[in-house]
Amino acid sequence: MSGIVSKRASDIEPSITLSLNTKANALREAGEDVVGLAAGEPDFETPELIKAAGIKAIQEGKTRYTPAAGIVPLRKAVAEAYTGLLGSPYGWKEVVISHGAKHSIFNALYTMTDAGDEVMITTPYWVSYPEMVKLVGARPRIVELTAETGYKLTAERLKSEINSGRPRVLLLNSPNNPAGIVYSREEMEALGRLLLEEKIGIISDEIYEFLTYGGIKHYSPVKLVPGLKDISVVITGVSKSYAMTGWRIGFALAIEELSYRMGAYQAHATGCPNAISQWAALEALKSGADRREEMRAEFEKRRDMFGARLARIPAISFPQPEGAFYFLADVSELYGPCGVTGSGQFCEKLLNEKGLLLIPGGPFGCDNMVRFSFAAGEEQLNMALDRFERFVHDYL
Ligand code: PMP
Ligand code: GLU
Repeated sequence: MSGIVSKRASDIEPSITLSLNTKANALREAGEDVVGLAAGEPDFETPELIKAAGIKAIQEGKTRYTPAAGIVPLRKAVAEAYTGLLGSPYGWKEVVISHGAKHSIFNALYTMTDAGDEVMITTPYWVSYPEMVKLVGARPRIVELTAETGYKLTAERLKSEINSGRPRVLLLNSPNNPAGIVYSREEMEALGRLLLEEKIGIISDEIYEFLTYGGIKHYSPVKLVPGLKDISVVITGVSKSYAMTGWRIGFALAIEELSYRMGAYQAHATGCPNAISQWAALEALKSGADRREEMRAEFEKRRDMFGARLARIPAISFPQPEGAFYFLADVSELYGPCGVTGSGQFCEKLLNEKGLLLIPGGPFGCDNMVRFSFAAGEEQLNMALDRFERFVHDYL
């Protein structure tokens, strides 16, 4: 040990989702017989009109620094779109454009918490949440949820968490990664009302807002509870809805007092989001809705096909995903027969024996589970299921 690494940085590890996705791609490129359902990103190409807007931005020389919180036309377009979607008036100064929704969440955590404040995170959670909370100096309060409540936080549970020591913020994600659960209108409204009553802030990660299935609708708590806007940050962006993960554009919507600070923080931390991507994102908002819906419909077909096959596999169970593009299955009955003790070993065995790469649930706070992404073509999904079935068959 050279002593060069700070104590603060000494336990940061890479994101398991990003690194396993990279691993799956590298193995495939090296000609290995590997099927990977690790991807947390649409497998579709960015729509042509959006690509063309990016190319045009380069050709027109829109390649310089932009205002730290983003170009005004994009902030205005986001404000207008979300005033409609959230049913609350948002001005353009209440929008901050960042380098992906991940960055938007980080900015929100930084500006809403002080050192040692607790941020409630419900299981199963997206892998980066606890790490981001720790990085800003706050403390994750992990709220363990189970199949009994459909992995959803109830108002009663929220109340008891609040009563057992005042957390500062709830970080909530619906539609959810990794389980695909979507809070109903009533469930979300009950949470929103309680948060408003108790003056607990909320970061509502709605990055999968347009990806819901079977007629299920996404409800933002801000839309359901008037007044909640003042103590919330809505997080969204173009990555998942418009197949733009690599462009790195996220949006945060919050009252100006907080948006101003997020923009100021960002000004010092990263300067500004990528100029070219901002013009492409503007095109996505202007003209991307049809293509977005086509991709959603394709995800829905895959979900139905994948879910029907998965349901026939013995010894596993899973909540039916109503949004996002993941299945989170409890595979712990197989641990004993396979001779493994957790999701990491299970996934390693599956990769070694059948060439199937899944994401272990451990880093999502649920070591009984594994995550399958259905952001992949039908052939690949079927191949993955064939392999998984053979694996289960070998041990049962
Ligand atoms: N929130 C959740 C729940 C996600 O799954 C992701 C995916 N990376 C993000 C936020 C971040 O999205 P982005 O790629 O725009 O940073
Ligand atoms: N959010 C996606 C996932 O969970 C993308 C990777 C990441 O940013 O973590 O796989």
